[in-house]
Amino acid sequence: MRIFLLLLISLNIFPSTHFFVLGSGTPNPNPERMGSAYLVLANDTPYLFDFGSGVVRRVAALSSEWGGNFSKLDVTQLEYAFLSHIHSDHTLGLADLIITPWIMGRDKPLKIFGPEAAKDMADHIIKAYQPDIDYRIYGTQPQNDKGYKAIFTSIEEGVIYEDKNIMVTAFLNDHGDLAESYGFLIQTGDKTILISGDTGPSANLLRFGNEVDILVHEVYSQAGFEKKEPDWKIYHKAHHTSPSELAKIAKKLNPKTLVLSHILFWGSSESEILEEIMKDYDGKVILADDLIEIN
Ligand SMILES: [Zn+2]
Ligand SMILES: [Zn+2]
Repeated sequence: MRIFLLLLISLNIFPSTHFFVLGSGTPNPNPERMGSAYLVLANDTPYLFDFGSGVVRRVAALSSEWGGNFSKLDVTQLEYAFLSHIHSDHTLGLADLIITPWIMGRDKPLKIFGPEAAKDMADHIIKAYQPDIDYRIYGTQPQNDKGYKAIFTSIEEGVIYEDKNIMVTAFLNDHGDLAESYGFLIQTGDKTILISGDTGPSANLLRFGNEVDILVHEVYSQAGFEKKEPDWKIYHKAHHTSPSELAKIAKKLNPKTLVLSHILFWGSSESEILEEIMKDYDGKVILADDLIEIN
């Protein structure tokens, strides 16, 4: 079955994959950088990876209805969402993702794939909004009674989803002592993309990301790190990746494009972060902004 689907994906005669960074941020409320979120638009079908604050409005910004370039994209199409881990900077948009596309007309349940703890999150959000959901369904507003629901699938390492457009493989990464933390390898008819998730240098990630087209990896500022208190240094070292560590990872994996996202700037500028990476790595590097398309 899997081989058949891979064949089907590769047989798409004109495969078309667009990849966007929707939210390049962290827990810090930088108004320019929304919470972590990425969009793969494969043959016009949208697939979300993480859903931090602002996720639905960032998707809307790409749609022609709201001034973007994609006439076929609409937030009501948001049906597939993959979650790397439950940290709030990756999940604060879940209420938005459950409710807003439904209000706009989505009539199918949202399919969420993620660590087990995210099921409770979705259930509690729907419960919290029940009065509003009931008001919209049973009041004078014409509203369907299906599109606010969520179907949850808990993930473990391996292929977690496949259809004719895409195959998604989850792999465990090394995000400090958070056991259920994943990165994703995404394969479409014309692109391979690896999203690191939040992680320190991960030997397991290296097994999945060889020669991908796009390697999206988190990173922190080395200069900022040096100024941290000893306790925070221990924490960040275990949970996140330094520029020199990322340079080593990129050298091993040899991606066509390395994308820096989920950057802990700690007072450094974009060019300083880029310099820290490029000191040890001479491949193509892009520092992500929200809504950037990576080709
Ligand atoms: Zn994070
Ligand atoms: Zn995290």
